[in-house]
Amino acid sequence: KSNRKFHPDDTVITLPDGQKIGGGGLALIAGPCSVESKEQICDIARRVKAAGAQFLRGGAFKPRTSPYAFQGLKAEGLELLKEAKKETGLPIVTEIMSANHIDMFLENGVDIIQVGARNMQNFDLLKELGKVKTPILLKRGLSSTIEELLMSAEYILAGGNEQVILCERGIRTYETYTRNTLDISAIPILKKLSHLPVVVDPSHAGGIAWLVEPLALAAVAAGADGLIIEVHNNPAKALSDGAQSLTPDQFDKAAEHLRAAAKAF
Ligand code: PEP
Ligand code: MN
Repeated sequence: KSNRKFHPDDTVITLPDGQKIGGGGLALIAGPCSVESKEQICDIARRVKAAGAQFLRGGAFKPRTSPYAFQGLKAEGLELLKEAKKETGLPIVTEIMSANHIDMFLENGVDIIQVGARNMQNFDLLKELGKVKTPILLKRGLSSTIEELLMSAEYILAGGNEQVILCERGIRTYETYTRNTLDISAIPILKKLSHLPVVVDPSHAGGIAWLVEPLALAAVAAGADGLIIEVHNNPAKALSDGAQSLTPDQFDKAAEHLRAAAKAF
């Protein structure tokens, strides 16, 4: 059960090499929106690791609004993530779009399986992910309530997989300046209602690179257990989400400020 009433202690996700999400400390998950090439993912992996990230993100299967937009390198993308992990030791966080791909994800050693906003209520997918032992990073749907996010987490927990990380990534509102509106209140509310760790995605929330750091700082102040941040070695040339991607140098500076903020709070 995701409800704190049945589980007063915080759930802490611990990977085999000791990386943790939850239970104090600030987990930093960083990397490109999409894996684009071996050079791109390995370069970014090295640089976010040097900046203090403990996890590498990178999309191989991409849920794009337009069918004509880059859809990801798919199986090859998972291979490249594996290479980046071999080089840096960073565990991999990557999005799954279909239950048919679960075996492929497990065979490629994906450390944390991301369920994207668009699949938050893909209940058949959630049920299948309830049967695996890999931690799941579950993103809040584009227009989903906190209660709906928790019920989606419940689908995974009910199947027997208790390693679920909740992710606030901004919700649809009438505001158009930002890509989405970061729901800061979701962080303390999720922490109050549930024992699961809460990670915030300021990149997809704001949709603008210069907004990433202020939103991330606000998330830390509000009690987030971690952040998932898009970083690209050449944002202007990124195949997806370049406008919201930090350069490795920008990420390095932001990470320093975020660690300081996490200590202060
Ligand atoms: C992503 O993380 O690249 C992504 C597609 O995020 P979301 O599902 O939150 O839109
Ligand atoms: Mn993205």
